[in-house]
Amino acid sequence: ARREGFSTIPNVTWDDVGGLDLLRQEFSDYIIRRIKSPEDYEEYGVDLQTGFLLYGPPGCGKTLIAKAVAHEAGANFIYIKGPELLNKYVGESELAVRTVFTRARICAPCILFFDEVDALTTRRGGEGGGGRVVDSLLNQLLLELDGPEQQRGVFVIGATNRPDEMDHAILRPGRLGKLLYVPLPNAEERGLILKALARKKPIDPSVDLMAIGRSEACEDLSGADLAALMNEAAMIALKEKQSSVGNSDATPRTINTTHFEQALRKVTP
Ligand code: ATP
Repeated sequence: ARREGFSTIPNVTWDDVGGLDLLRQEFSDYIIRRIKSPEDYEEYGVDLQTGFLLYGPPGCGKTLIAKAVAHEAGANFIYIKGPELLNKYVGESELAVRTVFTRARICAPCILFFDEVDALTTRRGGEGGGGRVVDSLLNQLLLELDGPEQQRGVFVIGATNRPDEMDHAILRPGRLGKLLYVPLPNAEERGLILKALARKKPIDPSVDLMAIGRSEACEDLSGADLAALMNEAAMIALKEKQSSVGNSDATPRTINTTHFEQALRKVTP
């Protein structure tokens, strides 16, 4: 279970992330190396963003890569689901924002991750939505992001599927100013994601995960869909094993290509 609002170093590593090479590169430069060797950056006088917005279709690894970044940097990770901060009265949600940032500073170096951040930042003064609660919460959020040296060692990553609905004020430099697109995986990347997902599964050596990733049946599948596919294939293999009566040693304890083919018929984007 996610320990919402609490800090831990996640156990997700780079190896758990398939594809997303460009993002790895960006996060290595912008976060991991800065946490590991801050003196280099000071020496060269390089001053970089500490706020990021990951945007793109659901299930493509936004949360996953943020956790991996924290792990690789040896930093704490705080997960906040945007809409949950909103389920409060005016005043309460501002306090909740302040508390979250205070906690992040105390456990720095820290990555503060806001999932569904658009919920907190729908355009101000707009019709409908959360009205005053959103306005005061957004103002508090901006205040926290603007606090200059308060940000030492705190990196803020927001994630959204709907960047267009966000108040532009939060996307300025110094706030969530670095925008990074997390796309649907291409054919090659689907294979790499399957390989990452396969690391903890008994896959038969004859299975060509890269070929499965390139296959037409996998077109348009997200990382989350591929995780569902992997799970389905494992489930089918397990059931087959369980129903092989008597001399069960004859049935190998692995997931084979046939299992993947069957699973592919069940999983759709
Ligand atoms: P949402 O917008 O719905 O919050 P998200 O982009 O944050 O989605 P994640 O929660 O990171 O997506 O991904 C969901 C799951 O899908 C992951 O836990 C993982 O199992 C799988 N997954 C997604 N992308 C990848 C990837 N690039 N490599 C490996 N696994 C992935």
